[in-house]
Order: sequence, then C-alpha cells, then structure tokens
Amino acid sequence: MKLLDAIKKFLGNKDATKIEAPEGHCPNCWGRQEYNGQLMDAIVQENIDLNNLNEKVGWIQAYATQHFEGIKLKPKDDVLECAACKLTYEVV
Ligand SMILES: [Zn+2]
Repeated sequence: MKLLDAIKKFLGNKDATKIEAPEGHCPNCWGRQEYNGQLMDAIVQENIDLNNLNEKVGWIQAYATQHFEGIKLKPKDDVLECAACKLTYEVV
C-alpha cells in the first residue's frame, strides 16, 4: 500500500512537513487541496506513530477511501487522468 509507505516515511522523519502524494493519486490535487495537511492532522489526532502503524492500516485505508477516492487517477487511452482536475499523467 503506497499511502502507508508515504506515511511511514513521514513519521520516520522528524523534519518532514508533508506527506508525499500516494502513487495512483493526483499530485496536483494532493498539493493544492490540502489533502496532505488534513491527513497529517488526522494522523496526529489518531495518535498514529511508527509503533502502531501496522495496527492502524484499516483506519488508514478507510480514511483514504473516504477522502482520496475523488483524486484517484484513472486510465484513459494511454494516460492516467484525474477525475477532479482533468490533468493527465504519463503511465510510468
Ligand atoms: Zn487532480
């Protein structure tokens, strides 16, 4: 789960000020619409740290489904398109 990796990286770095956009989600919307800040707040409120991260996977998945579904990139022709902002990305 890519979001989990991004959160792990964030929690492991005390100087980190943002969580990277998880793979398969629109980096444009992620940065612009404060998903990043909201997720960080939610993680703090939920008391998630590196020690309990594995127990919180279900919570993280539910959060992602609830909040990030709209900025998931969907395949369209040869590219991936964001349903929210319509930007397209090359498939890597
Ligand atoms: Zn977008």
